[in-house]
Amino acid sequence: MRILGFDSAYPDIPDNMLVEFSLKEGRLLVTGDTGLNTAALKQGAACLYLEERDIRKQISLLHAGGYLEGEATGSSYCPLCNCFLRVTPGEEIKGRIPEYVFRTAATFHVCPDCGHVYWEGTHILGFRELIDRILNNKSGGTAVGP
Ligand SMILES: [Zn+2]
Repeated sequence: MRILGFDSAYPDIPDNMLVEFSLKEGRLLVTGDTGLNTAALKQGAACLYLEERDIRKQISLLHAGGYLEGEATGSSYCPLCNCFLRVTPGEEIKGRIPEYVFRTAATFHVCPDCGHVYWEGTHILGFRELIDRILNNKSGGTAVGP
């Protein structure tokens, strides 16, 4: 989700701490665990139960439920530290990335916290196209090809 531009947390804590964590941070808890879902609802946490394992269908479901409205920023969060990445001109990061990437990638992002440089590789572009198709699908259906 971070690569897609959503602020997401994946805390490395036991399941029974997750409800408290989502309450404290005001986050939506997304889980495929029915027990965790029940516990969260009992404690008044916002929780979404997702039985679906397929990432594309999950995103479709999140979108259909209105959970993605106005959240996609078009930019990304650092997968390492969840900081908001800023777009950087190529010159700034020249020498820190492979030469062929520097020549071929269109956009570079740098994390202001850990300094990690990201670029739009073909796998991310393909994934973004997929997400765009899902988000632009007015019917909110799940008929999305690979
Ligand atoms: Zn970072």
